[in-house]
Parts: sequence; C-alpha cells; structure tokens
Amino acid sequence: MNAPQDLIRRKRDGFRLSASEINDFVAGATEGAWADYQTSALLMACFINGLNVAEQNALTAAMLESGERFDFSEILGKDAPIADKHSTGGVGDKTSLLIAPIAASCGAFVPMISGRGLGHTGGTLDKLESIGGYNVRLTKEEFKRIVVKCGFALAGQTDQIVPADKKLYALRDATATIESVPLIVASIMSKKLAEGLSALVLDVKTGTGAFMQTEREAHRLAKALVETGNAFGVKTQAVVSDMNQPLGKYVGNALEVFECVKILRGEFDEQSKQTLDLSIELAARMLVLTAIADTFENAKSKIEDCLHSGAALEKFRQNLELQGGDAKTCDAPEILLEKNLLEVKINAHASGFVNQIDASEIGKAIQSIGGGRAKVEDRIDYAVGFACEKKLGDEVEEHEPLGTLLCRTEAQAARVLAKLQMAYKIGEEKSATPEFIKEIIG
Ligand code: URA
Repeated sequence: MNAPQDLIRRKRDGFRLSASEINDFVAGATEGAWADYQTSALLMACFINGLNVAEQNALTAAMLESGERFDFSEILGKDAPIADKHSTGGVGDKTSLLIAPIAASCGAFVPMISGRGLGHTGGTLDKLESIGGYNVRLTKEEFKRIVVKCGFALAGQTDQIVPADKKLYALRDATATIESVPLIVASIMSKKLAEGLSALVLDVKTGTGAFMQTEREAHRLAKALVETGNAFGVKTQAVVSDMNQPLGKYVGNALEVFECVKILRGEFDEQSKQTLDLSIELAARMLVLTAIADTFENAKSKIEDCLHSGAALEKFRQNLELQGGDAKTCDAPEILLEKNLLEVKINAHASGFVNQIDASEIGKAIQSIGGGRAKVEDRIDYAVGFACEKKLGDEVEEHEPLGTLLCRTEAQAARVLAKLQMAYKIGEEKSATPEFIKEIIG
C-alpha cells in the first residue's frame, strides 16, 4: 500500500500514477483508510495535472471494481443485445423515458441505472417518481428480473454499485473538481460498465443548457468516453447534440413524462418533435451497435414501426406494471398534470424571430420554484414547470406567448418572470438555428 501523501506528492509534481497506485487510492478513499482531505488533495492534483489515457482507464477500472456488476449473460446468453444510453444532462432532456421502451420493443435489453436532478438539469429518477407509485429503488435481483421480463428497467444506483463514485463525486462536488474530463469519464463509465452492457450510446450535450458549453469541450469529452467504452469491450458511440434551447416542449418532472407518453401515443405537437427525433437517433444507434438492425436506416424504420403499432407504448405499460407505476398513465396521460396550478404567460417584448434561448436560465427558474434541487436532500415539486410555445427560429408578434410558466403562487411567478423573459432574445432578422446533431463519434 502506498502512503496517501506519497501518491499526492507524485501527482502534484506531475508524475504519472501506475494502475496499482490508482487502485490503492480508490480502495483507500472508498474503504476509509484515506482521510477525505487526502482524497480531495489527490483529486485536485488530478484536476490540475490531468490523467493520461492509461491513468484514466486505470481509474475507471478501479472504480468499477469497487462494487458489484450486473451479468446478464448467464440468463440471456453471452451475445444478448444489452444496451444503454447515457446523457450528460440538459434542460427538458427526457429521452431516456422514450429510448428504454422503444429499444426494448425492438428486442434490446436496457438496464438503465439513472440519476436524480441536481442544479438546473433534471434527472430521470425524479421524472419517473412523478408517476403515482413508480418505484425506482429496486434491489439488484428485482432490477435484473424486470430487465429480463420486459426488456428494460429504470432504477437508481444502489450502495453496492460503484461505491467509489459515490464517495469521489461527493468530494469533487464540494471541492470544485467536477469539471475534469478524465474524472468525468471514470465516473460515468464505471457506472455504465457495471451494467454489463454490450453497447452504449452517449448523448453529449453542448450549448447554453449543457454542462459542456462549447462544442470543443463536448467533443473532447465525447471522444474520451467513446475510447474508454471501447477499451473495456463495450461498443460505444457518442452523439454531440444541441442544448441551446430546452429539448422539446416541456421542462418539469410530470410535464416531461406527459410529453413522452403523448409521443408514445402518437399525439404530440410540433414543439415536441425534437424530443422524438433525438430519441429515435439515439435508440437507432443502440440497435445498430447491438446488431438488432444492420443499418441506421433499417433501425429507424424498425423504431417507427414499434411507435406506430403501439408496441413501444405497451412496453412502457408493462414496465409501469412491474415497477408499481399507475398504468392508467398510458391511457390518460392528463392524470399526470395537476389542475390547480397558476398558468402565467411569458410574452414577447417585440416582434421578430426567436434567435437565442438561454436554456440554463429556464432550468434554473424551474429549479428555484421547486422543480429541481439545489441540495441533494431538497424535496421536489413534481408538478411545476415550463411549456415552450416558441422555439429557436420561430417568428413571434409582440405580446405573443413565448412560453407558459406553471407554478403554485404569485410570489413564485414574480420571482422568475423577468428571468424567463430575459432568457429569450428576439431579433428583427432570423439567425441561423444551431445544428441539432453536431457530431457522431465512434
Ligand atoms: N455525471 C457523472 O455521473 N459524473 C461526473 O463526474 C459528471 C457528470
């Protein structure tokens, strides 16, 4: 065992750490032999001096080995199409709720371990909990049984899966060491690799509502994620997608589930179109990587068939029945919506074209009225949110609604109204709308 101060000193002075030194660090941090200040000091040295590919892979492996892993091969066979999608997070980003039933209805198995929202971006688990009775706290056995039975399960991380990430992420959050590509890669990939996948598609967002604001940063992260996935024997591809406006129509937990169920039912408006398009893009890549489809075009047409026939909606219903959620949601998605909310219109201050939307401001506004968390222990108000009436490139008249805020009190509305208004920039000339899919890596 290397002494913590020796490893901290070596990394501080710009040396590379060996795989066995990285194993000592992860074991010491997770099992408590290292004090939190020592773990934080080494994380800061990694943040400042970086990790090369060998160190990044060694860190991923050590974190992965810190806990249990799923192995579906004994039940489904070693070539089973087990795939997942991971998104780096955005505003109104709800594609997991569509991709899981879509991919499962096309024959994939999707063991989707998801997270909660923090800051201005939402989390899949919170969205799911807005469905009455839905249980995201599954044991390893329940999770496995549901994946095998209906093709997908959606649940939170347990203490047994990558406990190292729980420890390291909390310390990174408290010590300003989140924004490091190798630390992010090891954190995300250790959790995804623990799912026992054969294929993984990553949706790396870039733009005003994303963690990676510039395309250059998003490209760097996407490339590193793909290289690590492939190095661990998982067929991995990344899509760099636009997050310069909320994805689709709604932001807010119950509203986002509503949007997805409406899409599965084939009853949605124009503003929701990008939610569907991105979900099809990502799910189709999962089908190609798992060899369920031989080409991207064939994968898309399989998906369209599953949507049109109602097979994807029926998969979602089956999952609700298995995870305790109210299956009536599939027949009457309106039951997700609360009736007593205030509806406040955000009107355009001038006529012209919607040229910019600050998605993070919209995310922060909804978070601040209870739709998201500032601290892990905060409670969520599932009902509140925002409906986008106008999207980038749309023409508006002065005083026409850009969006609708759904909140509980006048005081909440007063608190966020100006911020929501300022999130929109209207110009006389129409600016070029950002490309929706910017790059495919891998
Ligand atoms: N999401 C994760 O799971 N880990 C990170 O480090 C950053 C984002």
